Amino acid sequence: MARFSLLEWPVLRQFRSGDPTGRGSSVTSAKTRATTPRTSTADAVVKSVCPYCAVGCGQNIFVRDNKVVQIEGDPDSPISRGRLCPKGAASEQLVNAPSRVTQVLYRAPRATDWQTLDLETATDMIADRFLEARRKHWQDTDEHGSPLRRTMGIASLGGATIDNEENYLIKKLFTAAGAIQIENQARI
Ligand code: SF4
Repeated sequence: MARFSLLEWPVLRQFRSGDPTGRGSSVTSAKTRATTPRTSTADAVVKSVCPYCAVGCGQNIFVRDNKVVQIEGDPDSPISRGRLCPKGAASEQLVNAPSRVTQVLYRAPRATDWQTLDLETATDMIADRFLEARRKHWQDTDEHGSPLRRTMGIASLGGATIDNEENYLIKKLFTAAGAIQIENQARI
């Protein structure tokens, strides 16, 4: 165990180091002083948007060796001006979590197991179902012959992880397709 020096007595240390109120360097431990922020050793900083909610706060993604090492608020973002809520500030854990699912999983009707699909196949399957449901439940006119031009076969319930711009595009897409039931989780 290291011998205690009187010079290391907290009050003396505060005055010796020009930190009389004890709120600066005099109260940091040797271990703290030896640490360096992950941001200082990053190879690159990439601009992004927090994936968690519709606010769409700006993020700076710090990358080292092609791996995300830290995520912080982007001071250049006019939406959040450098701030992130606790969820957004912890989103590095979302990226690097060992339990993160990185493949598309599909469970066929009545199947008990999941199978993995490549993204292109999964996207085609969704598009086929979307078009079929739209066509099958299309209503051109009501019983009096008044135009409806809508489908009751598709609806959109957006997730909280979709930002304002994505919601705007989804609203446009579904409205153009004739859907009238379009909602976002953030408003429920
Ligand atoms: S989850 Fe938090 S940090 Fe992320 S966009 Fe929403 S408010 Fe911003």
